[in-house]
This record gives sequence, structure tokens and C-alpha cells, in this order.
Amino acid sequence: MKRIGSDHLIYAFSPENLPVASVELDEPFWVDCLDCYGGQIRSERDLRPEIDISAMDASTGPIAVNGVKASDTIKIRIYDILLANQGVMVTAPGLGPLGDLIEKADTKIIPIRNGEAIFSDAIKLPLRPMLGVLGVAPAEGKVHCAIPGDHGGNMDTKEIRSGNSVYLPVFIDGANLALGDIHACMGDGELSGTGIEIAGQVLLSVSKVPGLSLELPVVETPDSFMFIASAKTFNTCARRAIKITVDFIAASRKLSMPDAYRLLSASCDLRVSQIVNEKITLRTVVPKTIMAALPSHK
Ligand code: CA
Ligand code: CA
Repeated sequence: MKRIGSDHLIYAFSPENLPVASVELDEPFWVDCLDCYGGQIRSERDLRPEIDISAMDASTGPIAVNGVKASDTIKIRIYDILLANQGVMVTAPGLGPLGDLIEKADTKIIPIRNGEAIFSDAIKLPLRPMLGVLGVAPAEGKVHCAIPGDHGGNMDTKEIRSGNSVYLPVFIDGANLALGDIHACMGDGELSGTGIEIAGQVLLSVSKVPGLSLELPVVETPDSFMFIASAKTFNTCARRAIKITVDFIAASRKLSMPDAYRLLSASCDLRVSQIVNEKITLRTVVPKTIMAALPSHK
């Protein structure tokens, strides 16, 4: 099976980055990912303010998918995420919503043993490995890997994990996929500014979804679809996620806009993915009992 190594990194999603590898449609392949600090924090002596932050969230790729064209929609299936044997959580003044209360930087190394993250002798957390960054090249310009958007990127959405799929709009031929920023586990919001940050290996494949037109990422779990919006403010972000979700529910169930709006309100959640990046990320959650499949939308 093909493996793309973490020596091939991008720091921003851009059509100018040339692919370092290519894969076929539906071909499973492995990708090695560094942690979000590019491996710069290896011990509790390494502090967040002392590392090179321009390299944050450096992602492995770009990987071109043969047969994919601009304006296609792709479905990325995540089969497995293998973790390194230790993760890290930093705090530092200014980091996260309570960063003003943090007086000095410190680093906590969190060993991974027997399927658990060892937070302390008394506190062990079940692993829920997830991908913080997964995206494609935008049509033009550059989006730093630490910023989320319609191309995916740093969405920090905890359902981007094995067993689930991510749909992304494609802006350039080949899509030019890149991924990184694995977390051993994380709660909604990424409230201190980080998950349990860790290196690892991801097994995935990419297929094409004919007839589906998306303007932002969608995550599919066994029982729901999630529409992932990112924006600078809560209101802008929530409105966009809600508007697109209502459009899809209306198309899927052949409902008027007001009826789709009511059905959304009665059955769907709005959840917080992360509030700590330059843009925040929210997601609506539509149960498959309401929408069994993504409707063709062209
Ligand atoms: Ca992240
Ligand atoms: Ca992270």
C-alpha cells in the first residue's frame, strides 16, 4: 500500500504547492503526520512560546487524486488513525479563552498506553483519535494550515475520525489533499486551545461523488450528516451552517424553506467544533432519520 511520508509538508493550502504524490480513486493509502508543532515539542522542557509558530499545523501533502477535476466533490473515507506513543498539551499566556489567567508557559507530555491517554496516574482518558486538519487546495491564494474554511483545513471537528467520511468541494484538478494535526482526543470547542496533540498515521481513500455540489465540508457518521462552517464570528458562522443545512433538507425532503427550517429546528443540533482558531468552526448535525443521503444539488 502507498505511504506518503511526513517529510512532504505544506504550511498553507494553495494551488501553487505541487503534488508530492498521487493516488487513484478508491485506492486506500497511508499518510504519516507530524503533530501540530511539527515535532518541536518533545519534552516538558520545550515550551510553546519558544517554538517556530509559522510551522503550526504543517500538513502532509499535497496528494493529487487522479481523475478528480475542479468543481467535483470528493468523499474521503477515514479507515484508521494510529497514534505515536506520546501526545502533548501546552498552555501559555494568551492561549485559549482563559489565556489571560495563565501566568507562564508549561508543557505536559501525555503517554499513550493500552488504548488510553495517561493524563495522570489517577486520570486516564479513552482514545478518540481525530484529524484536526484535512483539506484541499483553494482555487487561488494561500490559506495557512492553522485556518479552517470551505476547503477544509484546520476544522478541529472531533467526528473527523476513523469510520466516518469527509466530503469536500474540489477547486483545482487533482484536489491536492493534505492532512495533519492529529489529536488523541478532544472535546467540542478545543477549549484550552489544543487537543492531546500527537503524531500518527492515517489510512484513507478518496472517491468522487457525481451530482453532488458542495460549498463547504460535510462529515458523514453512521447516523448523521454534519455541515461544517467556519467564520470569524459566531453569528456569521451559525447563519451559514444553518442556511446551507436548510437548503439541503429542503432539497432532500422536497419541502418549502419554512418547513425545512422548522424540521431543522425540531430535529437537528448546532454544535461547536472549535472556538480557538482564527476562524471558529460550528457544525449542524442532521440525523439520517431526517436526511438519509446528501441530495444531488446541481
Ligand atoms: Ca487544530
Ligand atoms: Ca491541534
